Amino acid sequence: MIKFKNVNKYFGSFHVLKNIDLQINEGEVVVIIGPSGSGKSTLLRCINRLETISDGELILNKVPLHDNKIDINLFRRDIGIVFQHFNLYPHKKVIDNIILAPMKVQRLSKDEAKTIAMSYLTRVGIDEKADSYPSQLSGGQQQRVAIARGLAMNPKIMLFDEPTSALDPEIIGEVLDVMRSLTNQGMTMVIVTHEMGFAREVADVIVFIDEGQILEVATSTEFFSSPREARARAFLSRLI
Ligand code: ADP
Ligand code: MG
Repeated sequence: MIKFKNVNKYFGSFHVLKNIDLQINEGEVVVIIGPSGSGKSTLLRCINRLETISDGELILNKVPLHDNKIDINLFRRDIGIVFQHFNLYPHKKVIDNIILAPMKVQRLSKDEAKTIAMSYLTRVGIDEKADSYPSQLSGGQQQRVAIARGLAMNPKIMLFDEPTSALDPEIIGEVLDVMRSLTNQGMTMVIVTHEMGFAREVADVIVFIDEGQILEVATSTEFFSSPREARARAFLSRLI
């Protein structure tokens, strides 16, 4: 579904992604882990072209994303993204945050978009907050709204960039529960997280990245029981 072939990315002279080769198949849950500053967010952002790659090939469902001529809106609707900071519009109600993109991109009527929005709010367990403003919600609730907003576009892939890092410890679980339910429904997901227990539980594939290089790609069981790379072992031993 997603294929990186020898991808490099520079910010000016800084070589942030180095010779990235990675394949993500439909229905897979891929968890990217690695130290802060290692390039995890940049890798994720290349997938929906919030960042462009410098060289190599990045192919999404046979569409070459590295080709500047392609219409990014054609594939972006297939990709939902959830950030660490929820990026909700503060002056819009929860429901209006969610219907925006379906109305604009999928040209749904307001009523159609609202029906879909309510079904996703129900799915993430906060339909009763539809008419609240983001500031009236807890961080965990806001992040669940952000997930509902991503899902409302009916994407083929969901990307998550440290979705629980900004949350208080006691509400991390409610967001992980929503993500876990998505993994059970066969959604293709690429997740950057420091929640190792969650990673271990849901990941089909763990990708360990350090200093812009993928050092290890392994099943969750392999990675957590016996990481091959010394730097992965060091990383895990600092966390656990
Ligand atoms: P991670 O998500 O693993 O913490 P990032 O992908 O955010 O890492 O960043 C990787 C490196 O690239 C860091 O050193 C960061 O400072 C740098 N970086 C990220 N975005 C930019 C940018 N827009 N311009 C210049 N450097 C950047
Ligand atoms: Mg990051």
